[in-house]
Amino acid sequence: MTLDNQFEVHDPAILANARAVLDAASGPAGMAKEVITAVNRNDHWRGQRCLNLLAPEAPTSPTVRRLLASEIGTRAAEGHIGRVNRWFAGTQYIDEVESLCVELLKKVFRCNYADHRLMGSMIGNMALYHALVQPGDRVMTAAQPFGGHSSNRYDGPAGTRGVQIFDVAFNPETLDVDLDKFEEEAQRIQPKLVVMGMSMTLFPLPVREMSEIIAPWNGRFIFDGAHQAGLIAGGQFQDPLREGAAVLTGSAGKTFSGPQSGMLMWNDPELTEPLTEAIFPVLAATHQVNRVAALAVAAAEMLEYGKAYMAQIVKNSQALGKALEERGIPVLAAERGYSQTHQVIANVRSFGGGLDVAHKLAEANLITNKNLIPGDKPEDWDRPSGLRIGTIEVTRLGLMEDDMADIAEFMARVLVKGEPTSAVQKDVEAYRLPLQTFYYNFDNGWPGEAGH
Ligand SMILES: *Cc1c(COP(=O)(O)O)cnc(C)c1O
Repeated sequence: MTLDNQFEVHDPAILANARAVLDAASGPAGMAKEVITAVNRNDHWRGQRCLNLLAPEAPTSPTVRRLLASEIGTRAAEGHIGRVNRWFAGTQYIDEVESLCVELLKKVFRCNYADHRLMGSMIGNMALYHALVQPGDRVMTAAQPFGGHSSNRYDGPAGTRGVQIFDVAFNPETLDVDLDKFEEEAQRIQPKLVVMGMSMTLFPLPVREMSEIIAPWNGRFIFDGAHQAGLIAGGQFQDPLREGAAVLTGSAGKTFSGPQSGMLMWNDPELTEPLTEAIFPVLAATHQVNRVAALAVAAAEMLEYGKAYMAQIVKNSQALGKALEERGIPVLAAERGYSQTHQVIANVRSFGGGLDVAHKLAEANLITNKNLIPGDKPEDWDRPSGLRIGTIEVTRLGLMEDDMADIAEFMARVLVKGEPTSAVQKDVEAYRLPLQTFYYNFDNGWPGEAGH
């Protein structure tokens, strides 16, 4: 079979390499071995030798990771919890696990309703748009250069529903919502939903003010808290459901530090039927009960450790911002203390832009990502000026504010001093190798408690 004319969205050279690897394998068992070898290579590098500073990534506790491989994940359990609601018999223990998860989510997010069956926050947002809008409806959301996410734009779940999307106005200097302009535009547009989902997120949003502005025509404010869910659960950010948001969506695998998947939280009983019917039977059938079990334990970890863990994440971001700036790497929002989240945004235009900088830092085992920042134009999409740096994993490894200078120094050696990445890579590896224990969980307790 010749594949020469096959259209691929993936990098064709990487796929061609995979075909060559499979062709060279000694049969199917050898092919399986190649898969496992690749997984192990990632663990060896990203798992043990890198400083992972990707903002949407979090390490899970050993128990959460173990549960992802549990027997319960091989069972079929579609539908809502309960004997009559399920299609299948034999699900009584699955009902126990899932109901524990739902009740733990309600506790940790201090809300009346929660759903646990979303395979990703993208699916949660799809459920939301399926449930709450019709084609032609108007919604207002944040554009990407200000931190918005494709979920709420034409190219994502929102777009599939045929809605009209209008941008929420931001002040490019302060990165805040321009409330006056928003009020004027919202009154003209009268959006059914305002959905604020910030992937670049440094400070709380004016949820109360925006909710009040759209209240006269019963517009609903939705907080897509994919990134901020852990900070919200730990009480270290704003509390959107208490400030006027009708629905809070979240990723379980970002600051929440659980298994990668989605969560949906709300208080209004009128939303229960539309939202849950968009989840089942529209977007989820079997929904990975192993993941649900892992999510439930992650929620319990948040109840016990969330406050201190999330507070340390924020302190570390602020310390990292300051340490980077002191070393000649410009950081956004210096005048506001850099951040009240797990993120620090550097402007690396003068070092070659976000794409090249992120790849160069990765050669030194420092993992970050390129990011659009205000001032970038649509044609800068692939090569934006920003670099997004996250402090979730280094915090869970037990690092504190004082340690952030070490990380900033590694970055400055690559970017400012121009040292060869191979030299910095050796030092990053030596720094990370003794740090292999994730804290703020029932396995290892507080930083410093368990042996490395
Ligand atoms: C990451 C992100 C999502 C998607 O979350 P997944 O859990 O990866 O599906 C949705 N909205 C926003 C604002 C995000 O940053």
